[in-house]
Amino acid sequence: MSADLARLAAGVLLVPEGAPEPVAFAAEELGAYLGRMFGPSPVQRSVAGPGGAWLCLAPADAPVAVRALAVPAGAEWVVRPADDAAVVSGASPRALLAGVYGLLEAAGCRWAPRGTHEEHVPRPDTARRPVAALELRPAFARRAFAADLATWHYGVPERLAARLPSDVAFVDWMAKRGATGLLFIRHANDTQWVIPELVPELRRRGLDVEGGGHVLVELLPRSLFAAHPERFPLAPDGRRSDLGNVCAASAAALAVVRERAAAALAALPGATDFHLWGLDLPGGGWCACPSCARLSPADQALSVCNAVAETLGAGTRVLHLAYHDTLESPRAVRPHPRVWAEFAPRERCYAHPLDDPACATNAPYRRALDAHLTLFAGRVHVFEYYGDAILFGGCTVPLAEVVQRDLDYYARAGVRGVSCLVFGQYSLWAYGVNVEAFARGAVSPAAAASARGTHAAGFGRAAEPVARYLAALERVMAGVVTYGDVLLPPAEAERAAAVRAALAAARRQAPELRRLLAAAPVRLAAEEHLLDYTFAVLGALERWLAAADAEAREAALAALAGAVRHVRAAGLVGAGTWGLHDLEITHHFFAGALRARGAGQ
Ligand SMILES: [Zn+2]
Ligand SMILES: [Zn+2]
Repeated sequence: MSADLARLAAGVLLVPEGAPEPVAFAAEELGAYLGRMFGPSPVQRSVAGPGGAWLCLAPADAPVAVRALAVPAGAEWVVRPADDAAVVSGASPRALLAGVYGLLEAAGCRWAPRGTHEEHVPRPDTARRPVAALELRPAFARRAFAADLATWHYGVPERLAARLPSDVAFVDWMAKRGATGLLFIRHANDTQWVIPELVPELRRRGLDVEGGGHVLVELLPRSLFAAHPERFPLAPDGRRSDLGNVCAASAAALAVVRERAAAALAALPGATDFHLWGLDLPGGGWCACPSCARLSPADQALSVCNAVAETLGAGTRVLHLAYHDTLESPRAVRPHPRVWAEFAPRERCYAHPLDDPACATNAPYRRALDAHLTLFAGRVHVFEYYGDAILFGGCTVPLAEVVQRDLDYYARAGVRGVSCLVFGQYSLWAYGVNVEAFARGAVSPAAAASARGTHAAGFGRAAEPVARYLAALERVMAGVVTYGDVLLPPAEAERAAAVRAALAAARRQAPELRRLLAAAPVRLAAEEHLLDYTFAVLGALERWLAAADAEAREAALAALAGAVRHVRAAGLVGAGTWGLHDLEITHHFFAGALRARGAGQ
């Protein structure tokens, strides 16, 4: 007799005695979804015997002996029919939960990042009832999402409260999609390491709470500057400065950094990784003293990571950031075995995959990644920007194909982990395809191909026209996302002319995109607002690049600022708190940079 899910739903669910919280949660989830699919829910029975991360579904009339099922090397979880029973086993409690969701997905469940109300749960007549043998061998061991702590506005209770429900839904979806953790990125102005309200949601599912970020400023308190200026970087003007990171040659400074990093890691619930990055500046504020001057910024940053890795000890990892002025691989300093590189190619071209030989912009990034893979002996993670609302200026940029081809390349190159920056609900709105493609592709790059269809399926009856629209939009926006921050087109004349031509080409496609969207059988107001915003921005940038005088430049900037109204029109449900509160600040920042540049012309 073969294992039949409908019959098992009416049976018993064996749970190892004293199971950790994510295993108990996995049992609850399995029972609840089987109940929704078939009516009855299996009766949970706690059993002694092999502990660990496994669950066994057995028929009510013929309970089987408990079988411990070993997870093969290289696999994270397995599902196996065993006579008329079924066993799910995970290499960890989190992996077991992912295995349960894998079993349910194979039976026809479809997950949704905006919440369970958008999920599809099959009925007895549409569910796939035979339990198939399944096994997950992921392309990347670490599959994380990352978000800046500041985007939670945790100092403003009503804003925090407004976004938390969507975060809880997102964390739930992360577990369903097989992600491994969430990185809370701390910046210079932050006062906390995590969003405490989300920690129980992550831990219940066995997801990693990852912390750190641009934290060197926090690890070397600026209050020490008055008494110990020599611990701080020597600026290019020859003076010690409390604005930058640290003098990497100062043993006293490193002692403080080591001690405070250990305390920070201890304050991160269950964390074993610490992301130790310098200031988030294009010129990151490294030291020019005689001892440090022979070291590149990357060498200085790595030497700090090495010192901290020594302090944090066995079982921990320190992540060194390759980004902006530390993008090039260190040359003089060798990494401690517990230091990993985190490669963050933010200003790359997103029109092409990173290894596309036709893309001159991406070639140096590919070489830098290779150099890190060599120096760090494969201990490399990639930090990607597929959901970065600042990089893309809030414009909608579907990247299903680039995400798929990037992840395929990263996996082939030997990258061991990947993460993707997101901005809450805004990223699901403007980059929903990418978020889906990343989550799927991080497990198996080829699976990213289905992201456009999955995202479009969330539009119900409009799914088919939306999928066509997204494919066309992806082609049009590929012409634009070639130069880093969308709101900051290049100043150099030849590149500026090329971008202006690309913006004009995109503008000519706008009517076709509107026509494709209007073909949907239901009104897609939020999508229309997003498209209106995107083309208002692109149009304003085109005007800026064409502007002949100060008056024309100001008119272009006014048009750019005015574009934000389209995002506001989408409200909280569409644009999230980031769209309602942060987008405008981003605009002010970039407009200031453009205005300063215009003044120099
Ligand atoms: Zn120095
Ligand atoms: Zn390119």
